[in-house]
Amino acid sequence: MGDLITDIAAQLAQLQERKLLRLRRSVEGPQGPCLTVGGERYLAFCSNDYLGLANHPALIAAAHRGLDHYGVGASASALISGHSGAMEQLEAALAAFVGMPRALYFSNGYMANMGIVPALAGRGDSIFSDSLNHACLIDGARLSKADVHIYAHSDMAQLEALLAQSASPRKLILSDAVFSMDGDIARVPELVALCERHDAWLLLDDAHGFGVLGPQGRGSLAHFGLASRRVLYMGTLGKAAGVAGAFVAGDATLVEWLLQRARTYVFTTASPPLLASALLAALDLLRSGDERQQHLRRLGRQLQDGLAGLPWRLLPSQTAIHALIVEDNALALDLMQGLREQGIWVPAIRPPTVPDNTARLRISLSAAHSTEQVARLVAALKVLAARHA
Ligand SMILES: *Cc1c(COP(=O)(O)O)cnc(C)c1O
Repeated sequence: MGDLITDIAAQLAQLQERKLLRLRRSVEGPQGPCLTVGGERYLAFCSNDYLGLANHPALIAAAHRGLDHYGVGASASALISGHSGAMEQLEAALAAFVGMPRALYFSNGYMANMGIVPALAGRGDSIFSDSLNHACLIDGARLSKADVHIYAHSDMAQLEALLAQSASPRKLILSDAVFSMDGDIARVPELVALCERHDAWLLLDDAHGFGVLGPQGRGSLAHFGLASRRVLYMGTLGKAAGVAGAFVAGDATLVEWLLQRARTYVFTTASPPLLASALLAALDLLRSGDERQQHLRRLGRQLQDGLAGLPWRLLPSQTAIHALIVEDNALALDLMQGLREQGIWVPAIRPPTVPDNTARLRISLSAAHSTEQVARLVAALKVLAARHA
């Protein structure tokens, strides 16, 4: 019988030994394409602020106005007295933006999925989940107590076979729309068709597609020109939208049910209304045009072309996420360090976040990057490739 603190200290020491202990670095000042850490300036390719809105003057000004008008805290859960007019307006604007009847705002994406999945599926129901789904879809599925069937990444034939075998009264498919570590897009048209054929429902997590894909960044469904009452669309607002929070949009009855029954909505203090003010400004910017998304796509092509000759495997990508697979864990760390020494910050991602032998550099681009900055990254990686040849 060990002492809890002694046991945990030993576990931490073990993580340290296996080089798996994670370290936080404090960033000084605002987020952007360049970050100051420990007094050093870095050109950074590690953020999900894909449009450069996190420090945008229009959002900052809107947040100031929201602050002056509403104060800081929301004081209670939304169903008691914390639901502000700004949030009401934001939900309507989000629903219209993604072309759905109704939307509901959550404090963040993790809580959204943890609340949505158990509200829709329970004991005796079946959940079908892509093997590369985000942790919060996995946790939501576990929490629901439904039977969980995991299908191989984007394997529509396997998913169809599992659906065909299922006699569950309720079938819910869970999928990231853009997979966060590979940057590839889910086969959404096929997922929707499978829902129609097998009387199933789809919860689509567009954390990395909202703001990036589709006309004006209206998301993955718009990217494919799809609309279906069988889809619940979940988008997060702390990535491309530059602020914080998440929303689910879909059929008005389903959204009303989530408002009544998603425990992570009902039993938490509402988010500060000033966030809604900032997010309304972000939506105004999104609606105003496609330049940011187009610039982001041009940078993506520049990066893909620039890295084509490297000895490592760059996954093709139409999104902001570009994965350079180097396989070996130590090599991934070496490359991260080598870039750091050249003033560039790119995260190395290792198992268990990704499957064994697929350690990688996860390069995320932002519309706030310039072509010169992407050229600097390409040149730096070429220097490291020559050194490792
Ligand atoms: C980041 C992320 C989330 C969580 O969203 P937060 O608002 O950061 O909690 C959910 N799903 C996916 C796919 C994500 O990448």
